[in-house]
Formats: sequence, C-alpha cells, structure tokens
Amino acid sequence: MDSNPTQPFGLLVIGSGPAGVHAAAAYVEAGGPGPVCLVSADPDEPYQRPPLSKAVLGGKEPAEVTPILEDDSAWARIDLRLGTRVEALDTDRRRVRTDDGQELPYDRLILATGPSRPHCPEWIPVRRSSRCAPSSTPAVSSTW
Ligand SMILES: Cc1cc2nc3c(=O)[nH]c(=O)nc-3n(C[C@H](O)[C@H](O)[C@H](O)COP(=O)(O)OP(=O)(O)OC[C@H]3O[C@@H](n4cnc5c(N)ncnc54)[C@H](O)[C@@H]3O)c2cc1C
Repeated sequence: MDSNPTQPFGLLVIGSGPAGVHAAAAYVEAGGPGPVCLVSADPDEPYQRPPLSKAVLGGKEPAEVTPILEDDSAWARIDLRLGTRVEALDTDRRRVRTDDGQELPYDRLILATGPSRPHCPEWIPVRRSSRCAPSSTPAVSSTW
C-alpha cells in the first residue's frame, strides 16, 4: 500500500489495543467504504492482554500471543503500521503526522491510545474537545 497516500483513509485509528483493533474491524465488517489504516506505537502484532496476565504469568500456559480477533479476515483490509507513533494531529486539515515523517489524511479518526492520560489532551485543539484537560506532559502537538 502507498506509504504516504494523498487519498484520505476512510478510517484512521491510532492505537492497536483492543479498542483500536475492534473499532477498525467493526468498520470493515460493517462495510465501511474507505481504506482503513491502524497506526500504533506498539511494535508487536495486536494481542489479547488478559491471557498474558493470567494463564501465562501463572505458569499455566506457554508465553504465546493470543490473536485479538476471533475472525481475522478483517486484517486483509487494514493497513497496519506498527512501531509508528503519531506525533501531531491537525483536525482542520484532517491529517496526522507520524514519527517517521509521514502525513496520513483521513475522513474519520479514532483515538484509541489507551487510558494513560498524557497521550490524550494536547492532540486536539481545545475548541474541538472539552473532554480532555490540557496535560503538562503532552505526547504530541495539535498542529505543525
Ligand atoms: C499484559 C496485560 C494484561 C491485562 N490483563 C487484563 C485483564 O485480565 N483484565 C482487564 O480488565 N484488563 C487487563 N489489562 C488491561 C486492559 O488490557 C486495558 O484496559 C486495555 O488494554 C485498554 O485497551 P485500549 O485499547 O483502550 O488501550 P491500550 O491497550 O492501552 O492500547 C493503546 C494503544 O495506543 C498506542 N498508542 C499510544 N499513544 C500512541 C501514539 N502517540 N501514536 C501511536 N500509537 C499510540 C499504544 O501503543 C497501544 O497500542 C491488561 C493489560 C496488559 C498490558
């Protein structure tokens, strides 16, 4: 796939945890029309977390990664970019910039960067989100 597309992704998801992966898969399964891109700072293939903290650490199962999707056919339509951190978000131009210098345009964006607070606030111009308080340690900037 084009690594620096000029055509926007129908859906761009940031984060490859359960929220991000299931959002991307749901879009595909619902017949979402555009191409889907999932960008994640996580370098590893998406995996189920609970088995690691239960069966594996308890010594009941070997340390094997459990696939996160029961039906993995959706992956064929998802442009998965692992080990790639989003540094900046421009909601006016509907683009994100990644740490490898790419600009990824989108029609719809889902932030699924997890529960850790510092990753959220500074991404979004304040006028667009009253839900996120400014962080003292922003991970990304809102414009560039
Ligand atoms: C080993 C382990 C075991 C767990 N076991 C359980 C359990 O048994 N029961 C339970 O209830 N919960 C468990 N949890 C917690 C549960 O997994 C979390 O609640 C859940 O992962 C949250 O999902 P999420 O998709 O919202 O965020 P996360 O899983 O945190 O995913 C966030 C994603 O965003 C990415 N990201 C963040 N910032 C950026 C950025 N700037 N650019 C690009 N990507 C970015 C991260 O790399 C990551 O892929 C476990 C967690 C772990 C790690």
